[in-house]
This record gives sequence, C-alpha cells and structure tokens, in this order.
Amino acid sequence: MKHSILVTGGAGYIGSHTTLALLEAGHEVIVLDNLANSSLESLRRVERICGKAATFVEGDIRDRALLDSIFARYSIDAVLHFAGLKAVGESVQQPLAYYENNVSGSVVLFQAMAAASVFNLVFSSSATVYGEPKQMPISEDCPTGTPTNPYGRSKLMIEEILRDLSLSEPRWSIAVLRYFNPVGAHSSGLIGEDPNGIPNNLLPYISQVAVGKLQKLSVYGDDYPTVDGTGVRDYIHVVDLADGHLKALAAIATEQGVHVWNLGTGQGYSVLQMVSAFEQAAGVTVPYAIVPRRGGDIAECWADPKKAAHELGWQAKHSLDDMMHDTWRWQQSNPNGFSQ
Ligand code: NAD
Ligand code: UDP
Repeated sequence: MKHSILVTGGAGYIGSHTTLALLEAGHEVIVLDNLANSSLESLRRVERICGKAATFVEGDIRDRALLDSIFARYSIDAVLHFAGLKAVGESVQQPLAYYENNVSGSVVLFQAMAAASVFNLVFSSSATVYGEPKQMPISEDCPTGTPTNPYGRSKLMIEEILRDLSLSEPRWSIAVLRYFNPVGAHSSGLIGEDPNGIPNNLLPYISQVAVGKLQKLSVYGDDYPTVDGTGVRDYIHVVDLADGHLKALAAIATEQGVHVWNLGTGQGYSVLQMVSAFEQAAGVTVPYAIVPRRGGDIAECWADPKKAAHELGWQAKHSLDDMMHDTWRWQQSNPNGFSQ
C-alpha cells in the first residue's frame, strides 16, 4: 500500500538511502532537512537512480510552525526520524547543541505529530545506548547502559521519552531501531557517506587513505581482549539498514506501543580485519599505525539480530566484501563527496 512518509534528515547518509528505498517501493516521500550535515545533491542523485523525486522542505525539526504547516499540507501516515547531530567528539565539546538538536528537536517533532494525530514513528537509535555491554551478542533485552558521551545520552533520552509518550497515549506505534555500524554505499556509486572534514569513523577514514586524501590510518589500540587486539564492531551495509526501515514501517502499521529492534548482521570484525578486507576489495594498500586507545571506545560489540529476523522478516544480505566494494566505488567516483 502506498503511504506518505515524512523523512526528517532525509538528505543525510542513511536518510538518503532510505528515501531511495521508499520511493522505489512506491511511497510518497517528504524530506525535511536543514542541510546542517548534508547537501541537496544527495536527493538529486536519488532521483537519478530511481526516476522519482522526494518533495524537499529545507528547514529544522525545532521549527514547530514549519512542522505544523507540513502536517497540514500533506497527509502524512508515518515519520522516519533521522534528523540529528551525530559526531561523538563534537558532542563532548558542544553538549548543549546536541541536547537541543537531538532531544529538544525530537520533542518538538513529537508534539507536532501528536497535534496532527500522526502516531507512527520510526526512530534512529544506536547500539551506543547499550553502553559497555556485559554479554555478546547484544540482544534487545540486554539492559541499556551508560553511554559515554552526550551524543549517546541524547539517543537514550529520546528512547525514554518515547516510552513515556506511548504510556500516555496508546495510539503511538513506535519502532526504535538500534543501528550497529552503518557502512557502504548504494551500488550505483551515486550516493554514499560524505563526512565533513576528517572522518571520525573507521571505513570513511580507510577509504580516504586509500584514495590518497589522508596519509595513514591510526588504529586506536591493539591491546583489547579481541581476536587480534583491535576493536571489533558489527558493520552493516546501509542498503540493508534502509530495508530494515521499510520492514519496521510495515510492522508498526499494525502494532501499537514501542518496539525495539537491533539492526546489525550478528558478525563482528576487528579493525585489522576491516583493513585487510578493504585492501583485498580495492586492490590497494592502506598504510596504518597502531596508536593508543581512543577514549570512550569499547572492546567489542555485535548484534543478536534474531528479533528483527523473527518479527520483521528482515536480515542483512550484503557481505563484508559488498560493503568494501560499494564504499570504494563511491569514494573513487566522488573523491570530494557531493561537492564536485
Ligand atoms: P547524517 O548527518 O548524514 O544525517 C542526518 C541529517 O539530519 C543531515 O542531513 C542533517 O543535515 C540533518 N539534520 C541535523 N539536524 C537537523 C535539524 N535540527 N533539523 C533538520 N535536519 C537536521 O547522519 P546519518 O549517518 O545519516 O545518521 C542518521 C541518524 O542515524 C542520526 O540520527 C544518527 O544519530 C543515527 N545513527 C547514525 C549512525 C551512523 O554511524 N551513521 C549510527 C547510529 C545511529
Ligand atoms: N577506529 C580506528 N581508527 C579510526 C576510526 C576508528 O581504529 O580512525 C576503530 C575504533 O577504535 C573502533 C572501530 O574502529 O574500534 C569503529 O570505530 P567507529 O568510530 O567507526 O565506530 P564506533 O563503533 O566507535 O561508533
């Protein structure tokens, strides 16, 4: 069935891949984005890939009057809420900007949704809410922990707000999607991750070293209790992640309350395994140096993805090799990201 979906942050990395998947599935998409960390070029490329366009509204989720006008103008069935700031280090430097954008912005969005009687919501959360995990793999019934930074805390706060909201008004149908480590790009090479400045995340850093923009990778610690001493994470292809949103959207159409789903592959890879998988896929050498651990990092983290498999009929399909090939194609064809 065709729906009208409001996608906040839809010009960004995960939002643009999900907008594409929604358009391909025949939905009408309205993107609201203030372009704080993205460019409209991503949505032009989405249109190039699928021949359909999302309606774009430039603006902020903190702008209540704008939200009210969007809900009045379009008959929105559900909101996919990606908008927010996501740089962990920056969140330590500027906590108020993070709480204002992520927490206050979400509150304004939820108020506008309630006023418009739109109660279907898919929220982008993160595995960071589990804090230092006590067991592996991490299933949804593992307790949430203490995130080590304001970014992570902002995600946990929003999750708690959503639980309170659902208790107060049973019409809310909410999917909380806890992403593990999103990587990769669309196989066309037209859309992908375009980090601002020097990347914080591993795979964008590796690919910028490979393309010659950065000199060498710093591997943050080789003394963790892991397979080779380097940090282990569950990397998930962004196209699989986008598909998870469509499945979650379908699930909440018939189920009220708050539902939490991990979106991960269930398989962890170390930093050095990632380097060598990338080198193999790209056919280039990635110079690296071992440096001290990065503050706030955990040793390892990977998902138990069974709940999403059982309840959503979703599982990640792309292999590590796909993630590497797609990242490399995107990086090579767009060495300067969306700004040519
Ligand atoms: P992104 O920065 O590429 O996308 C976020 C988008 O939101 C950007 O286009 C930005 O311009 C927009 N935005 C920011 N503040 C806004 C505001 N106040 N009003 C309107 N638009 C605003 O990030 P992404 O990687 O696509 O992440 C999407 C969501 O998923 C975020 O909420 C992020 O916290 C969450 N998440 C990301 C990761 C990851 O590693 N990429 C992991 C877990 C969770
Ligand atoms: N990492 C690294 N060098 C980098 C960036 C990341 O060694 O330049 C490591 C990091 O310590 C962690 C893994 O790569 O073990 C994934 O880090 P990323 O920042 O991509 O994601 P996180 O899981 O921290 O959100």
